[in-house]
Amino acid sequence: MKKSNLNFKSETDILTIIKMSLAGNQVKLQTSIDYEKIGFKGGLEIHAQLSSERKLFCHCKPELIPPEAKPDYRFERRFRPVLGEMGTFDAGMLVEFEKSYRVRYDTYGENICTYEMDETPPFHPDFETIRKGYIIGNFLNCRSAVDEIIFNRKQYLDGSIPTGFQRTAIIARDGHITLKNGKKIRINNVLIEEDAARRVEFHDRASRTVRFNLDRLGVPLTEIITNHEDCNNPFDLMNIGFLLGLSLRILEVGKRGIGTVRQDVNISIEGGSRVELKGVQDLKNLLKYSEHEVTRQLALIEIKNILISKGVIEDDFQPNFIDISSSIIGNKSKYAFAVRLPKCDGIFKKQVQPNKSFAEEIFDRCELISGISLNNMTTSDNDSSWLDNDRVFEIMNILKGDAFVAICGNKKSVLHALNRLLERMKLALKGVPEETRRVNTTTFNSEFLRVIHGRDRMYSDTDTPPISIDQKTREMKFNEILKIWDIFSQYPVHIDELKFIVSKGFYSPFSQLIKKYPEKTRSILGLFQKCQSIIKKLSFNRDTLNQNGIELILEDILNKKISKDDLKILLSKLNSGFPYLNIKSEFTDKITKISKDQIKRMKNLLFDSEETVDIPLGHIFGIIKTNFPMLKTEQVISVLKKEKII
Ligand SMILES: [Zn+2]
Repeated sequence: MKKSNLNFKSETDILTIIKMSLAGNQVKLQTSIDYEKIGFKGGLEIHAQLSSERKLFCHCKPELIPPEAKPDYRFERRFRPVLGEMGTFDAGMLVEFEKSYRVRYDTYGENICTYEMDETPPFHPDFETIRKGYIIGNFLNCRSAVDEIIFNRKQYLDGSIPTGFQRTAIIARDGHITLKNGKKIRINNVLIEEDAARRVEFHDRASRTVRFNLDRLGVPLTEIITNHEDCNNPFDLMNIGFLLGLSLRILEVGKRGIGTVRQDVNISIEGGSRVELKGVQDLKNLLKYSEHEVTRQLALIEIKNILISKGVIEDDFQPNFIDISSSIIGNKSKYAFAVRLPKCDGIFKKQVQPNKSFAEEIFDRCELISGISLNNMTTSDNDSSWLDNDRVFEIMNILKGDAFVAICGNKKSVLHALNRLLERMKLALKGVPEETRRVNTTTFNSEFLRVIHGRDRMYSDTDTPPISIDQKTREMKFNEILKIWDIFSQYPVHIDELKFIVSKGFYSPFSQLIKKYPEKTRSILGLFQKCQSIIKKLSFNRDTLNQNGIELILEDILNKKISKDDLKILLSKLNSGFPYLNIKSEFTDKITKISKDQIKRMKNLLFDSEETVDIPLGHIFGIIKTNFPMLKTEQVISVLKKEKII
């Protein structure tokens, strides 16, 4: 793990880190964090598309439509939440509902039927996908695999699924993987579910319209959820992601290509809250995202402490909205309203992420829910081009130490936004709100997306009957040799080397060989690198190359039965379809079949030479090789040893 450069002493605690990070209003990005000290916790939710002949709940092809294709028809929907099983609405769903988007769908006759459009109930689920779910669960050491699959509905009101919910089922639970440092990371759940539609047009916050292509909807997915409690730093989190990604590739259950694997990242620190980051495409950037999120949570905790120390309480945030339309400069808008926030002077200009103030942090949320853009919101901490702050102070009779927030736009939306703002201010007294946030892949900052979903989001799917699973399917296993995390934790192998082995399709022979020759791990890796350069140079078809043959060749090389120099010829023969056993005799025979005459000539050559007494061994080989170009080094050594010349 990366060591802290801040040199924390025992008496130093989180508050010190916060103070260091918040000198003035500028936030110092925490790049040398002692993650364990601040109580970092991280979990992953990996979503990977599974390869299949059909979609999970219908018989359409699970393939995407090329971008240039024109939709065959379009339709539109609006969404409203439904009660959860306990008779309550999910808070996250209500927030989604408030956004009240108009949703448009692009539909193509080729890959989309009435199921995706929510005009017919689901067909029987694809059994191939279910089978793959069990293979994954068993590979991840899950102790309990379900004997009856029950599909649930998980509400989605962002428009990405026309039904308003995603069908999902738990396949296995209580698994684990082991990291190189010996840490056991629990796998909470392995699920299978349908992928959502893909958004093709970014929602326009003013027109409140979003457009989706329905082609991706229904493509089978697996979701793997790791235990958030078990990972205390982003470096481990990155490795968990890599190991799970490699596992899916080894199992050959997943689709390949961009967008086929997506991950949500859960991060929290001591005193903060669990925040779900969406849109993390590249695991390599996980450290950056963690730094930005930790910095944000530390800043929000500090803001909470400042508010509490000033004696701010929830009741201070009253919805007394004052019409300040007369303070608008120019023709910005007809209406502006403001609300007084007692004892909050100076709080809004504090930075919570690099180049992002607390005002922007809370406006993000108001903007997304009300549709009013950030430019139309301001606070007494800012100089706005559209508002005469002095006049607002006058109208509202703002006292020293107090602040105001002003928003302009249509009256209904402004009041809506101000109500949300007060809600967000109340949350500021608690520190970090539990939220789902979308990351910005350029700045590594994040913005509010929705309130984190609770249990009320799920209810059972009455369209799909429970499916009993026989023991054979439940125990279905990949023909496993060594699990990827065992290799990672037990042998001197770097994660990049493992990625190389898996991505080049060498996993099976590689894991067999290091299991048999653990002391030769480095040589084995070297041999595979050599194989790769030969395969690449000669453009062999990797898929048809006999993996078992590669394993046998490399094993013989390791045991010095054949020469490394012959690897190219051996692989070429293997590529032409010869079984290794046939090829082998041809090569090993050469070693044993050196004629008596050849040995005699060899001896004469060496003993006739005046140089043989003191010359280096290399020169002896040189003389032999020059005179016997057909022989290989191993052969020469074996003959020389046999004849007691060396
Ligand atoms: Zn379909």
